[in-house]
Amino acid sequence: MAKSDLVFRSALELAQMLRDGEVSSVEVTRAMLDRIAEVDPVVNAFLFVDEEGALKTAREVDEARAAGEQLHPLAGVPIALKDNVVTRGVPTTAASRILEGWVPPYDATIVEKIKAAKLPIVGKTNMDEFAMGSSTEHSAFGPTHNPWDLERIPGGSGGGSAAAVAAFMVPLAIGSDTGGSIRQPAAMTGTVGVKPTYGAVSRQGIIALGSSLDQAGPVARTVADAAALQDVIDGFDDRDAVSLDYAWPSMEEAALAPANAGERPLEGVKLGVVKQLTGDAYEDDVVASFESTLEFLKDKGAEVVELDLPLLGIALDAYYVIMPAEASSNLAKFDGVRFGLRVEPEPPVTSERLIAASRGEGFGSEVKRRIIFGTRMLSKGFFDKYFVQAMRVRTLLQEELVEAFESVDVIVSPTSPTTAFKFGEKMDDPTLMYLSDITTTPANLGGMPAMSVPSGVAHGLPVGFQVTGPVRGDDVMYRVAAVVEAQEDVAHKNPMIEGVDGAAREGEDR
Ligand code: GLN
Repeated sequence: MAKSDLVFRSALELAQMLRDGEVSSVEVTRAMLDRIAEVDPVVNAFLFVDEEGALKTAREVDEARAAGEQLHPLAGVPIALKDNVVTRGVPTTAASRILEGWVPPYDATIVEKIKAAKLPIVGKTNMDEFAMGSSTEHSAFGPTHNPWDLERIPGGSGGGSAAAVAAFMVPLAIGSDTGGSIRQPAAMTGTVGVKPTYGAVSRQGIIALGSSLDQAGPVARTVADAAALQDVIDGFDDRDAVSLDYAWPSMEEAALAPANAGERPLEGVKLGVVKQLTGDAYEDDVVASFESTLEFLKDKGAEVVELDLPLLGIALDAYYVIMPAEASSNLAKFDGVRFGLRVEPEPPVTSERLIAASRGEGFGSEVKRRIIFGTRMLSKGFFDKYFVQAMRVRTLLQEELVEAFESVDVIVSPTSPTTAFKFGEKMDDPTLMYLSDITTTPANLGGMPAMSVPSGVAHGLPVGFQVTGPVRGDDVMYRVAAVVEAQEDVAHKNPMIEGVDGAAREGEDR
């Protein structure tokens, strides 16, 4: 096998090849690092590449395997981490100047798990600063480019992880999802992105944004790869107060089940289609792709049930009160004293002036906007009028969703109202950018698992299909998503398969 072919393989294929001794983990890791060197100068998915660390783990895997040790099935398969995942000894910036130079003294729980399973960590990926945004244009270190069209955004906030996977630089990555930051980038880049049930994956060591919404999860090119990665990172953690103590079934098995379930693998499965998650705000191509996927799923045995969930129509409004409020509190610790950047103010030097100077220079405009807005939402007078009101909407929305799941197995919708937009298109109007999250925020407010799976290509760009499961129903979600995926191999239609030149050429005629 040519070394360059390795980058196009799925994580499970690579894992099998490693176990069969067809390739070594050093070879696989090298292939990814070479691919990064080739395409990332243009894509800018990585903020830090840890060549040495990745190869060290790869060598350990190869030696352990040669010595006949029992290894995790995914041992030796490379992975990338979003840069808000805290990594010991490896810079962690959350794409913010304020954390530049910070090298954490500890690992996030999921990093401990990934290290225990011995997946070489090739680096840290770009994102919107502190995971606020839908395009990665808010990164302090320059945007990531969409591998399908370099003039377009890869989604956000986790555009780096999505682009790294889409551009075949790595088969697996970790993202974080507070309002859609794993799923929307997956939709923009033709990859699979999963937000597990709230509490399924430990938040310890994921730089907090909206603590009641945050959840880390897998990014991959196939549903089964994502599922296998969720099996690595989920599970109870006593260092996370909301961690669920629950015996999670194998997500990989759930994802692989439909392939062996005959012609109609979704027989008896009810899909809820929500009236509020479609309409004028959605691009025609997105709606067309969604509808043809629904027909495909009906052919596979699924039954479609129409749902009217009025509160889903105002979920976004509640999210954009609750999330900034929580963020303003979570980001108070970045004060120029404890972590990263410190800016000396003009004399007289007081602690207040030092904090103001450091935050003034260290935070970008979107982060400042949300801190100011969120602080306001929590202040006297505004608290009852807006924050408490938003929390009421959230509770009612949760009830509405729980009730909906009594009559359907999963809820399906487009992942995003649009395909990938051009750089600059939404930067002057924050509310326009926020509308990108209209379909993804309900799952965060409700705590439900939700994922995006590619459902087709429209005018040369991928379209994502969202599957939302009930709380703890991650396995059902994976099962349905695996059938959606069978419709079309979107990931391999990416012009980036031909390298940077292929992507540039494709971009010309859109
Ligand atoms: N785009 C959303 C926002 O800007 C989602 C963020 C996220 O999930 N981290 O808030």
